[in-house]
Amino acid sequence: SVKRPTFLRCTHHLHFHTTSTRAVASHIVGLPRIGPKRELKFSLESFWDGKSSAEELQKAAAGLRSSIWKQLADAGIQYIPSNTFSYYDQMLDTTAMLGAVPPRYGWKHSEIGFETYFSMARGNANVPAMEMTKWFDTNYHYIVPELGPHIRFSYASHKAVDEFKEAKALGVDTIPVLIGPVSYLLLSKPARGIEQSFSPLSLLRYILPVYKEVMAELRAAGATWVQFDEPTLVLDLDANQLEAFTHTYSELESSFSGLNVLIETYFSDVTAEAYKTITSLKGVTGYGFDLVRGAKTLDLIKGGFPTGKHLFAGVVDGRNIWANDLASSVNILQALESIVGKDKIVVSTSCSLLHTAVDLENETKLDKDIKPWLAFAAQKVIEVNALAKALSGQKDEAFFTANAAAQASRKSSPRVTNEAVQKAVAALKGSDHRRPTNVSTRLDAQQKKLNLPILPTTTIGSFPQTMDLRRVPREYKDKKISEEDYVNAMKEEINKVVKLQEELDIDVLVHGEPERNDMVEYFGEQLSGFAFTSNGWVQSYGSRCVKPPIIYGDVSRPDPMTVFWSSLAQGMTKRPMKGMLTGPVTLMNWSFVRNDQPRFETCYQIALAMKDEVEDLEKAGITVIQIDEPALREGLPLRKAEQSLYLDWAVHSFRITNCSVQDTTQIHTHMCYSNFNDIIHSIIDMDADVITIKNSKSDERLLSVLPEGLKFGSGIGPGVYDVHSPRIPSDTELSVKIENIVKVLEKNIIWVNPDCGLKTRKYSEVQPALNNMVTAAKYNRKML
Ligand code: GLN
Ligand code: ZN
Repeated sequence: SVKRPTFLRCTHHLHFHTTSTRAVASHIVGLPRIGPKRELKFSLESFWDGKSSAEELQKAAAGLRSSIWKQLADAGIQYIPSNTFSYYDQMLDTTAMLGAVPPRYGWKHSEIGFETYFSMARGNANVPAMEMTKWFDTNYHYIVPELGPHIRFSYASHKAVDEFKEAKALGVDTIPVLIGPVSYLLLSKPARGIEQSFSPLSLLRYILPVYKEVMAELRAAGATWVQFDEPTLVLDLDANQLEAFTHTYSELESSFSGLNVLIETYFSDVTAEAYKTITSLKGVTGYGFDLVRGAKTLDLIKGGFPTGKHLFAGVVDGRNIWANDLASSVNILQALESIVGKDKIVVSTSCSLLHTAVDLENETKLDKDIKPWLAFAAQKVIEVNALAKALSGQKDEAFFTANAAAQASRKSSPRVTNEAVQKAVAALKGSDHRRPTNVSTRLDAQQKKLNLPILPTTTIGSFPQTMDLRRVPREYKDKKISEEDYVNAMKEEINKVVKLQEELDIDVLVHGEPERNDMVEYFGEQLSGFAFTSNGWVQSYGSRCVKPPIIYGDVSRPDPMTVFWSSLAQGMTKRPMKGMLTGPVTLMNWSFVRNDQPRFETCYQIALAMKDEVEDLEKAGITVIQIDEPALREGLPLRKAEQSLYLDWAVHSFRITNCSVQDTTQIHTHMCYSNFNDIIHSIIDMDADVITIKNSKSDERLLSVLPEGLKFGSGIGPGVYDVHSPRIPSDTELSVKIENIVKVLEKNIIWVNPDCGLKTRKYSEVQPALNNMVTAAKYNRKML
């Protein structure tokens, strides 16, 4: 046979070089704004504390924006977003743009400045803040617009246009990003008092004129594209809601003239109906889809995509920290390219990079084996561009080779795989795990041992942490103080907390968690399979950030984690001392989770590790163990059809942790941060003996749904006061609260407790508040 000349062997390569006339473009949906070292956080907090001026804050913010734009321009990104910066939150920015300020802030219908803006975000001396809630299934929180027929919308913040001009002045042409009108309204709530009778969507025709003004101004400023984020398109929508999209974008069409419009969706796939609705819109030029979480969207596109429109293909995961599998992304992109055309495909991120960490460059202490497997926002930008280049026939071979090597090393690394753990998880399959006896039998057995009064009192776990106290574990970690000094300092603190609770006459005590910086980090650091970053911060809300651990491998527990502290604390008192653990679902949902196995596998692994801990606590004589699951609801899939599967394995994971304990060992769980009304059956199915739960205004329904056929069976402690406010509730107020709870629940299952841990409060608040709580409980006991 004849040997072919080498140059003919790479026909593929040749083909690209000779025929690619147009380069494939790249786009980033949105970006982190907090800064690589949380610069915005510190600027904001210094401004709020009155330590720096508005000008200084603005200057710092402008610096962050320009460095991001420069970073993207240098990387070669074509569609660079603007208006993704925010001083607090992008939904609040939209509220400002529309002049939708609730009347209680006394706003005078002028351009909205810092005072009004931050009052809405954080409250002021006279008026509390607006409500904050979770942004879809992320850990980001947005400020919920409060709308009603009384609002006179007006164009009150020109931020979108200002940012566009600012970038332009720096020589960067950007695509301004706005929250789309329909999503804005669907994510709003009716103002107080009209909850039952008002639908925010009915305000569509009043907000569209403002959007039109913004379009006109952007056009005049030289914008050629506008991005409308319409993430609600991934939710279950009814016909009326879908119709709102059609109406909105046909109505806005006249104001688009000359502007290209991108409708951006993220966090899941869009439904077939939603896909049909938006791809039929005439005035829209492009669509952005999350192809990481929205695998089904691929099929929709394959089933038909409107000719001449742009597809912004979100193949680089904005929700995680894993390096993209570039080879497999290229395959997906090529398949899509053959449908929509080379000049119409744009490589993009699955969602805003707001939800991932900022820059891997700053991780100097991260494990050398693990670091190459990762990509934070800055690295994801490079990936997007590399993919676009590869599609244009200008593949950076070195970059792709390094990426393939990292993917391979992650797949085969002994750091990732622990066979014993995998076997143990495999053995779980197909069986249910629950305690052999039912909750009422167990409660009887426990009561014999614990001998608690009716309406027993307890707290959720943490006690106030002063700056001085927080320093101690940190200094121990940094080897600045000896182990002995550390243990003594903690011992002293625990003793103080125990004595205080005894003086207050609380029935079931806690040790106060002084040794824990964070309820996830503390356990993650002691479990195998978890890694930690130094600067992997992700904005949670406003200036607040979290630093999620990275679960990279099979999880196991080499040594007991809490037994030493819990035994020590139990030794200080005759009253029951609660062992205090974080549950598997929360440990997982508050971490960056593996993408190389299903989430339930990871969750089961953590559950088995925590089961070891529960068993060791029991052996050490701890008779009450609380397993916190505040984040149980956070992992709930956005679409109803997928929710029951998640709830099944999440609840099962919780039960695994304690399925082996004796009847006399009392298992508590604690939940907060969400409304639980819709998953109440799952909460009961957790089969805990006692549930302490946030009981905010919106949860009062939680109490009212129960008598109608549904029974808790277990003990329940609906938090009697809000720990997130410095306000000290009076004993009479608390007593009324308890009385209301007694009215709807059987009195013998009720516990009296605050609604969450006390970590962020001061002793001057906690001491009187708990004192009033115990006084109230004692009073109510007498009245029963
Ligand atoms: N036990 C934890 C604490 O009290 C629970 C925290 C939480 O629910 N977020 O701090
Ligand atoms: Zn809580």
